[in-house]
Amino acid sequence: MATALELLGAQASTCVACGLAATRNRVVFGSGPERARVMVVGEAPGAHEDLTGVPFVGRSGQLLDELLGEQGLARSSLYVTSVVKCRPPKNRTPRAGEIITCRGYLDRQLAEVDPVVVISLGNTATRAMLRTTAPISTLRGEVHREPGTGRAVVPTFHPAAGLRGGTKVVDQIRRDLARAASLVGEAS
Ligand code: URA
Repeated sequence: MATALELLGAQASTCVACGLAATRNRVVFGSGPERARVMVVGEAPGAHEDLTGVPFVGRSGQLLDELLGEQGLARSSLYVTSVVKCRPPKNRTPRAGEIITCRGYLDRQLAEVDPVVVISLGNTATRAMLRTTAPISTLRGEVHREPGTGRAVVPTFHPAAGLRGGTKVVDQIRRDLARAASLVGEAS
């Protein structure tokens, strides 16, 4: 029998609730074990993800996998998704209306996977998780709590910012991921 998450993914795969449906190739719902202890939330699929249907498989994804791996967080043990499940044209930032329309999927994913810690990558994901408008640069470096559930949220820069920003940004991401890994260790 299909799980609730599989049913939700099947439902999302034909979603036409917002305008992104008209330009996407594939809906990128999420990937990873349904009982993952860590959930990684990005912004929206890029070109590679839009073609494959799998989150974080492009250059950002490769850097992310490498940095997570350094902290003992194997990609295969994580649930990975994004705030918006369809690629915005030319990789523009998702609009507020698109984020709100897609939100139900993220909330159901959070409820089903029920991770110990959420790693939010960049402004869009962090603002969605913490329901704030503050910038990632002021939020990262600390463990936050998701409003409502109290679940631990560790914000960090999006790996695309790491690719652009060089070692300083990558080292900050490293430190944030180490913090997330330590929370998982504490909870076991
Ligand atoms: N950036 C994201 O936020 N999500 C992806 O899946 C790929 C790139």
